[in-house]
Amino acid sequence: MTPPATATGKSSKRPAEKAWSPDKSADLYGVDSWGHGFFGVNKAGHVTVNLTDEDTTAEVSLHEVVEGLRDRGTHLPVLLRFRDLLHSRITELNESFRKAIKDVKYRGEYRGVYPIKVNQQRQVIEEISEFGKKYHYGLEAGSKPELIAALAHMHDPEAYIICNGYKDEEFIDLALTTQKMGLKIMLVLEMPSELGLILERSRKIGVLPNLGVRIRLSTKGSGHWQESAGDKSVFGLSANQIIDVVDQLKDAGYLGCLKMLHYHQGSQIPNIAAIREGCTEAVRVYCDLVKEGAPMGVLDIGGGMAVDYDGSHTNFASSCNYSIAEYCTDIVETVSQVCDKAGIAHPNLISESGRAIVAYYSVLVFNILDVTSAQTSEAAPAIPEKAPQNLINIIDINKTLSTKNLQESYNDALYYRDQLRAQFFYGAATLRERGLGEAWFWHILTRISKLIADLDEIPEDLRELSSTLVDYYYGNFSLFQSLPDSWAIDQLFPVMPIHRLDERPRHRAVLADITCDCDGKIDRFIDKEDVAKILPLHDLKPDEPYYVAIFLVGAYQETLGDLHNLLGDTNVVGVHLENGKPVYTHEVEGDTVADVLSYVEYDPKELISRFRNFAEKAVSEGRISPKERREILDRYREGLNGYTYFES
Ligand SMILES: *Cc1c(COP(=O)(O)O)cnc(C)c1O
Repeated sequence: MTPPATATGKSSKRPAEKAWSPDKSADLYGVDSWGHGFFGVNKAGHVTVNLTDEDTTAEVSLHEVVEGLRDRGTHLPVLLRFRDLLHSRITELNESFRKAIKDVKYRGEYRGVYPIKVNQQRQVIEEISEFGKKYHYGLEAGSKPELIAALAHMHDPEAYIICNGYKDEEFIDLALTTQKMGLKIMLVLEMPSELGLILERSRKIGVLPNLGVRIRLSTKGSGHWQESAGDKSVFGLSANQIIDVVDQLKDAGYLGCLKMLHYHQGSQIPNIAAIREGCTEAVRVYCDLVKEGAPMGVLDIGGGMAVDYDGSHTNFASSCNYSIAEYCTDIVETVSQVCDKAGIAHPNLISESGRAIVAYYSVLVFNILDVTSAQTSEAAPAIPEKAPQNLINIIDINKTLSTKNLQESYNDALYYRDQLRAQFFYGAATLRERGLGEAWFWHILTRISKLIADLDEIPEDLRELSSTLVDYYYGNFSLFQSLPDSWAIDQLFPVMPIHRLDERPRHRAVLADITCDCDGKIDRFIDKEDVAKILPLHDLKPDEPYYVAIFLVGAYQETLGDLHNLLGDTNVVGVHLENGKPVYTHEVEGDTVADVLSYVEYDPKELISRFRNFAEKAVSEGRISPKERREILDRYREGLNGYTYFES
């Protein structure tokens, strides 16, 4: 296949610069596909976020937000949190269930709960308990610390608090006593062995527990977490174990406490068919538990609602082939159909959507520190008078290079360069000749990559070639701290510059972080049809910062991150709209160097004292003056109190 050089009416000459526009950038980076109407591109070429202040909506430029922070002395990287987007998602989920229930004439209610583990930050829990009140939106706790946080914030007697996870006596006692105080707490059995302890504690405390059981579905999910359900799942009870629990409850006279069935198919399930299938199996179990004599009344469908990170709207792992509304309709229809067939009353529905609620809420913004370019040779190298044939061949390729023979020229250049290296190895070419050959090789690659940059579509067979011609953009962030799922499970996130979108991006970039770890890079990017190996970025301009943002990082990324290379938490700022203007709130300073060192057991005071003794020794040995000692110590102290990231 040859590149369609003339298909767009273009020759190898560059198109006029004015052919580029912010709209083209929006299309290139797919903002409208993944942005869910929350993000866009304005006429100035900035990424915007749509914020709402009661009845006014404004498109706020992220570039202006970041510049405003810099003026105030907040260093990048910074995590921006937009509570309006969180509110919007809570509303969308609850209203979609409300509408589906009305449309299907479903005879039960919906009460969502937010699973704390997805983003445990206090602001999220506060927003859920305050903003979510009108929907009696509750919380899901998977551990003792999460329950303790939930109990301090969630006091709505109509909202559920779901207790999942393994439970010790302390956890159970806390749940049972707060139930006495009027909260709707459900204790979910994850293991058969928990039942004995729960019944024993409930007798002691004098309150009947609200019990749920978690079923291990035989239907697998799909996507990365498909093993979370299915026979191999480590969570939940098998059909046989559930029957055992029912029998034990009957024998003990406690069957009346069994009120809920819970299942969780795994996170980020991209395929709606898998969701429907899992739900069907669970409702079948639910109906039979009613027939066994349990009062039931609640079906908790867990999490799993996916986020369309790449905007492709497919069943690809980083996408999903359904909207919130379709998800809700499918669930409500499935439950009602299976129940109607069995003649069982419709249960109230709980869902534990986490990712779908918080993913949009946070955006990580960082500056680019440096670029190392593969395109090292813009100017044509010298032509020697006398040269080995391999070198002459390389120089000839340069003469005939055009958009019509990009692939062929690349292959030939590579071949003759390697021949020349072999010649050098056996003493048949000099170091000077080899050096010249490599300079010509890079010059040719530079020209090829420029020609590729001007193609609107890169032909399939040139994609591999173009992925070798990338520029490394060094971003002031740590993948391990801020984007663990990119590293751990190859999840894709939308990444793009937040300004200069009125300019054509001419560089084909891979993003490296500042951990110096060869895994600390992003070289897989969202793409409409595939996974892209490069991200188009702009030239760095001297004396002008270049800002790149990673979007949809509100779910799971913040607390799964680690202290690789001792790079700590980033600065965090909440932004919302007041009187039509963005205001900054909830500013949290990131870790200082002293903070991260103390996490790994260093004592900053002792560090200073050790370093001071060392400096004093240098003074007594006459290496530095007392004045220098003071300066060096000041610098050391400043370093300890500073940000762990690159400060400019
Ligand atoms: C993690 C988890 C969730 C949240 O899943 P999402 O895919 O983020 O919605 C819900 N319920 C349980 C039991 C979980 O473990």
